[in-house]
Amino acid sequence: MVELKTDTSIDAMHEAGQVVARALTAARDAAGVGVSLLELDEVAHDVLREAGATSPFLGYRPSFAPVPFPAVLCASVNDAIVHGVPTAYRLRDGDLVSLDFGAELGGWVGDSAISFVVGRPRPADLRLIETAERALAAGIGAAVVGNRIGDIAHAIGSVCRTAGYGIPEGFGGHGVGRHMHEDPGVPNEGRPGRGLPLRHGMVLAIEPMLIAGGADGYHAAPDGWTLRTDDGSRAAHVEHTVAITDSGPRILTAR
Ligand code: MG
Ligand code: MG
Repeated sequence: MVELKTDTSIDAMHEAGQVVARALTAARDAAGVGVSLLELDEVAHDVLREAGATSPFLGYRPSFAPVPFPAVLCASVNDAIVHGVPTAYRLRDGDLVSLDFGAELGGWVGDSAISFVVGRPRPADLRLIETAERALAAGIGAAVVGNRIGDIAHAIGSVCRTAGYGIPEGFGGHGVGRHMHEDPGVPNEGRPGRGLPLRHGMVLAIEPMLIAGGADGYHAAPDGWTLRTDDGSRAAHVEHTVAITDSGPRILTAR
C-alpha cells in the first residue's frame, strides 16, 4: 500500500532528511587516505546523536541478511555496489567510495547516498560518478504528478545504459516514510508510461546503482551484506529522498 504524506508530514521528513544530508557531508569531509570505514561510521553516528535522531540501518535485518546490519552507515568501496559493512579497512589513494545513510527523526525516515573518490581520481571513476548523478537528476526530473513509476525507471536506466554501464537487477529505490522501505518499489530500469501513477504526497527514495564494466552481475560478499560486482569493476551509488508535489519534486535530503 502506498501512503500519501500530508504537507506537514513532508516538512517533518525534510527535517529527517537534513540530518542525513549533514551526516553524509561530515563523513565525506572526514574521508581521506588512511581513514578507516569504521571512523566514517563514527563521524556519521555523532551527527545522529547531536540531532537526537536514530538509525534505521543499525540492527536492520531483511530476509536476505544473515545478521543484523552492524552500523549506521553503509560504506561500499570500489567493486562494492551497495550495503558495504564498515570495517577497519583504511582508504587508499584513488578509492571510489559510496556512502549510504539513513536517519529517523520524529518518527520519519530520510535516506540518501553519495559517491566520491579519495585522493587522486581516475578519469573513468569520475565519469562513472558523474553519470550516476546525471541518472539521479533524470529520475528526480521524472518524479512529477502525471507521470508513472516507469517514467522514473526509464529516465534512470536510459542515462546508465547510454553511457554503457551495468545496472544490478533487483535493487533500486522505494517509498520512504515512517519506515525506510515502503511501497512502491522504484526500479532503476523500466518502460515509460507503465506502473503506478505519481501523486502529490508520495515520497520516494530514488537511487541509481551503476556498474562500470557494463555487465549487470553481482554477488554477496562473505559478510552476507556487501554486494560486489561479478566482473570486479567499480560501482557508484547515489540517492535522494524526494517528495512528489503539485509544484514539482522536492529533494528532502538536499545537501
Ligand atoms: Mg539508502
Ligand atoms: Mg534507499
